[in-house]
Amino acid sequence: MLARATELKQQGVDIISLGAGEPDFNTPAHIRAAAVDAIERGDTRYTPIDGTRELKAAIQAKFLRDNALDYAPEQILVSSGGKQSLFNLCLALLGPGDEAIVQAPYWVSYPEMVRLADAKPVIVDTGIEQGFKLTPEQLSAAVGERTRLVILNSPSNPTGASYSEEELSALGAVLADFPDVVIASDDIYEPIHWGKDPFVSFATACPALADRTVTVNGVSKAYAMTGWRIGYAAGPEWLIRGMKTVQSQSTSNPCSVSQAAAVAALDGDQSVVAEMTRHYKTRHDAVIEGLNAIPGFECRPGDGAFYAFPRVADAVRDLGLSSDLELAERLIAEARVALVPGTAFGAPGYLRLSFALSLDDLQEALNRVKSAVMA
Ligand code: PLP
Repeated sequence: MLARATELKQQGVDIISLGAGEPDFNTPAHIRAAAVDAIERGDTRYTPIDGTRELKAAIQAKFLRDNALDYAPEQILVSSGGKQSLFNLCLALLGPGDEAIVQAPYWVSYPEMVRLADAKPVIVDTGIEQGFKLTPEQLSAAVGERTRLVILNSPSNPTGASYSEEELSALGAVLADFPDVVIASDDIYEPIHWGKDPFVSFATACPALADRTVTVNGVSKAYAMTGWRIGYAAGPEWLIRGMKTVQSQSTSNPCSVSQAAAVAALDGDQSVVAEMTRHYKTRHDAVIEGLNAIPGFECRPGDGAFYAFPRVADAVRDLGLSSDLELAERLIAEARVALVPGTAFGAPGYLRLSFALSLDDLQEALNRVKSAVMA
């Protein structure tokens, strides 16, 4: 869908793409300046495979400050994006016969990474009725002898839903009986959060399981740094060591200049993140209202991230279409708006749209979608 949108744009068609999974803001000035300084200083060589001493110190300080989690440098791995940390985790931990529990709607890469490690993703459906959240009962039914990994993502891509401390504790209580299960807590959208309950990381909510939790985070989303490719993981030393081995024999250290920029991001003024989040929240409110005014669309407010995930099954039916894919195709052809079908996230009957673009563009896109659906 996104390739199609780009192609049409190149042909001069006025397409609004709501498909992007990245902030529309530029990287803040003090972070860009730190990168320039690093280049001038000559920080242009290989670094330790798992990240520079300075960046690891900044990550340790971040975990203490924001999550009350105390990690030693040996428990931290810096990667070329949170994506690589997660991939390293799957490769280091999983193998044939192993299962990883992934809730749907999911970030598209989770099941694929599990499959690349020759393991089996066990998908558990969580629809709009249950707020797109895994319940302890569902987790209890899915977990078993073969389960090696449970992946949690809060706030979520694609739904924006986040787990409260109480909800995480209840999931943790189920996993307490399965000592071989590792929990991956993907917190990449952590500060882009406005839910009524404060953000809590899984390892903070479930201290008894912290020694088998890998917390993944990064600077891509929070600091508008998607192109710099810096993410990180923290967890038990034995597993971080395995993940480092995978990275060592594939890509080695992440970009030295980007690591210096990430230090400035994590140690610097955090008000830049709050400012961007304020914009996302304003857009979120406008988008939720606009989507719920479209016949056959139903969208629950999110707690964070920059995505809305409306259920559109009624619109699909009323328009005589067969799926969310057909609806997305119709919207790109008739409304000139590109959205991602829910099927891509393991959730047919939904669409994902990103609100990481200006309010004016969002309003225009919503008007166009509404007109196309009502035509
Ligand atoms: N996790 C989730 C849920 C994401 O949406 C993304 C990016 O789209 C990532 C992880 C990885 O981000 P990055 O590799 O840029 O750090």
